[in-house]
Amino acid sequence: MTQPRAATVPDENRKPAPDALTIGRRLRHVRQEAGRTLGEVAEVVGMSASALSLIENGKREPRLSVLTALADALGTPLADLLATAPPSRRAALEIRLERAQRADSYQQLGLPAVKIGPRLPMEALEALVGMHEAMASAQAERAATPEHARMANAELRERMRAADNYFGDIEEAAGELLAAIKHPGGPISRAAVDRLAGHLGYNLVHTSDLPGSTRTVTDMTHKRVYLPQPEAGQHDSRSLALQAIGHLVLGHQVPADYAEFLSQRVEINYFAAALLMPERDAVAHLHDAKQAKDIAIEDLRDAFAVSYETAAHRFTNLATRHLDIPVHFMRISRDGVIYKAYENDGVSFPRDALGAIEGQRVCRQWTARRVFEQPDLSQAFQAYTDTRSGTYWCTAVVDRTADGLFAVNVGVPYQSVKWMRGREATHRSQSRCPDPSCCAQPPAGLAQRWEGHAWPSARAHSHLLAAMPPGVFPGVDDTEVYDFLERHAPTG
Ligand SMILES: [Zn+2]
Repeated sequence: MTQPRAATVPDENRKPAPDALTIGRRLRHVRQEAGRTLGEVAEVVGMSASALSLIENGKREPRLSVLTALADALGTPLADLLATAPPSRRAALEIRLERAQRADSYQQLGLPAVKIGPRLPMEALEALVGMHEAMASAQAERAATPEHARMANAELRERMRAADNYFGDIEEAAGELLAAIKHPGGPISRAAVDRLAGHLGYNLVHTSDLPGSTRTVTDMTHKRVYLPQPEAGQHDSRSLALQAIGHLVLGHQVPADYAEFLSQRVEINYFAAALLMPERDAVAHLHDAKQAKDIAIEDLRDAFAVSYETAAHRFTNLATRHLDIPVHFMRISRDGVIYKAYENDGVSFPRDALGAIEGQRVCRQWTARRVFEQPDLSQAFQAYTDTRSGTYWCTAVVDRTADGLFAVNVGVPYQSVKWMRGREATHRSQSRCPDPSCCAQPPAGLAQRWEGHAWPSARAHSHLLAAMPPGVFPGVDDTEVYDFLERHAPTG
């Protein structure tokens, strides 16, 4: 990341002003003010009237020598033709209409382009420009809806699946950093994280007054990463610090849209995990475990002093690439709603019309849901599930958080279970989903008794509705962040 930049309009790579369209309109304006025809002026500068018309319509970019000759012919300073402001309200509207009609979004409608010329009434011009611009802003608004966010999520999952959730360039960046601080291997300590930041010229500063809408804030001027007090939250502060450093190491720019924001978030998570559980050491650990037919997420967790979820997720990065084991992973709430999920083993997650799976409810028969029915929620629960896409073995644990209980689940297809600890599990269930009679529909007896006599008030899943809060960094309160940086910046 370079300097913090202000929000920019992402899809408009404008050339340095003025552009051909503005020059053309100014040229026409000056010519008409002077009472000269196209033909007359064209003849003076030695070009055809049609060529001059192309220039005036912004369809041809005039060379500077041509512009100079035209300025001479019209008796006007060259600077007048090169000025960036449209010469009149009408010219300004004509330019905006021309641009709107040339946009891909308009072309795709297959509608005719209105001829822009002196015969187009001012009123019609105002109305057309107004409508085009209202349409564009409605489109921009639509792009900020949960639907858009869900599509971005679906696309990102496809990318991860195609790569077997292994990103070699991030592994490499992490490996280089570890080498730079001469990390001896094994789990990375808090002190090692400090050295990593130091290697990049940054200081890690713990503070108790981070803005509520942020997890960390990086001051790129004074090279500081502000983190919450380690004891304040449940977050592993090593992980938070590494994620903040990830933005710097991976060269992230201010995200242009929600999709980029999401993919940056996946990358920094990956980066942090690749440092907390370095590829070489984690793969060595997993290879030994596979040899012994005793792979267990708990062991990976304990060997690297990370959370179960971090270990489970890291397993998905390495399992297919290094152990030839396809996997699936999910984090669901107690009511079965998917918060995070990944698969490359063919397990069939429920999905909506847009291909998104966040917010969908998984089958009641799946291990990730059955773990909640176990008498002792502190124990990992292993079970086999027969599904329409095959039999899977899963291991799930319950994660207690301030937001309630979640299940973290790792699964493999039946043919890979021979490598996993806990394969002797005897629990087995049948999932016929998406057949609605599997678990989506209430049992007939119950339905008969209660249908039409129940009126539940639904709890909104606010995290899904607000999938894309406003702001360059979605949901972050810029004022709060700048105030915070002011307060903490070193003086003098
Ligand atoms: Zn089901």
